Amino acid sequence: MPSESSSLKPNDGLSGGASAKSEIGYLNARGEWKPPHAIEYAPIFVWPPKPFNLLKWALSYPGFLWPWNSVYLLITLVTWFWFQPDISRCVTLKADWIGEILLRNIALLWLVNGGWHLLLYTLKLQGMERKYSPKWQAKNDPKFLFKNQVYDNIFWSCASGCVIWTAYEVLYFWAAAHKLVPYVSWKEHPIYCAVWLCLIPFWREFHFYWIHRAIHAPWLYKKVHFLHHKNVNPGPWSGMAMHPVEHLLYFSVVLIHFVVPSHPIHLLFNSQHTALSPGGGHSGFDGPVFNDKVPMGSYFHYLHHRYINCNFGESTLPFDKLFGTFRKELFDDSAAVAPATGAAAKTTAE
Ligand SMILES: [Zn+2]
Ligand SMILES: [Zn+2]
Repeated sequence: MPSESSSLKPNDGLSGGASAKSEIGYLNARGEWKPPHAIEYAPIFVWPPKPFNLLKWALSYPGFLWPWNSVYLLITLVTWFWFQPDISRCVTLKADWIGEILLRNIALLWLVNGGWHLLLYTLKLQGMERKYSPKWQAKNDPKFLFKNQVYDNIFWSCASGCVIWTAYEVLYFWAAAHKLVPYVSWKEHPIYCAVWLCLIPFWREFHFYWIHRAIHAPWLYKKVHFLHHKNVNPGPWSGMAMHPVEHLLYFSVVLIHFVVPSHPIHLLFNSQHTALSPGGGHSGFDGPVFNDKVPMGSYFHYLHHRYINCNFGESTLPFDKLFGTFRKELFDDSAAVAPATGAAAKTTAE
């Protein structure tokens, strides 16, 4: 998922039982790093139900709530209380408040994607440890704008992604100023508001799966989705590097707030989650990074970039399993060249 997705690590540390040797991960003949375990779905749609695992998945670190969904919610709250133009200004479409939202969104994208890029690719704080591909981002490659993968990705993310993301938010706040969208108050309906907030990541994944399947139709893939898939070896900026038509479809996830009673916090959480979570999901590294402390990455979605015809969704709603496109990449000992060494081995030994 350009988000891809869910920002949660596919396995979420629930499988356990990996041997000391396998915890290092493996390199195949191409020097690509593979995790020591197969990808697993979140324990939601399992039979018989496993309530303890579900609770653990929801509350543990890393899990559904911590850290990333909580971080995105915090960003939303800061935005709503300090960086949101007053609704009275949104009655007419004027450049000042629209410009404020656009600047805010560009700043947020640079903070998140630029932050991941700075730490992992510029400062290389993680080295090559748990990096899926042995290559860094492409330079002098004519398939990218400016012959540079990072510049290409930044261009599409900002010139198209931020503009369309902003356009949806502007449309919502303009409609809210005219009382054209169904509003619900946190004070009057706190339980409804909290439940709806928790359901938004699931709605996002549902919407993403079907939009993503649609743009893999041959004609749309050739005209639109190819642009995102130029990033066989994605980096943080690849998450939002999409064709404008894909951005239009991808951010249409927020249209639900024009129908389902919502507070503006729901809209902002949805749109910001959609825009910001793909950065970590496309980072090209498997978490936890930085001395095993920071969970991130999505091997699930990396495999989609690597092989194209698998893993169209993410690892919470089991659509790929249901439709036979799930690639869990169960580690095959016969394909291993060597356990990952160097920093990875060192970290595991510590
Ligand atoms: Zn992607
Ligand atoms: Zn795709």
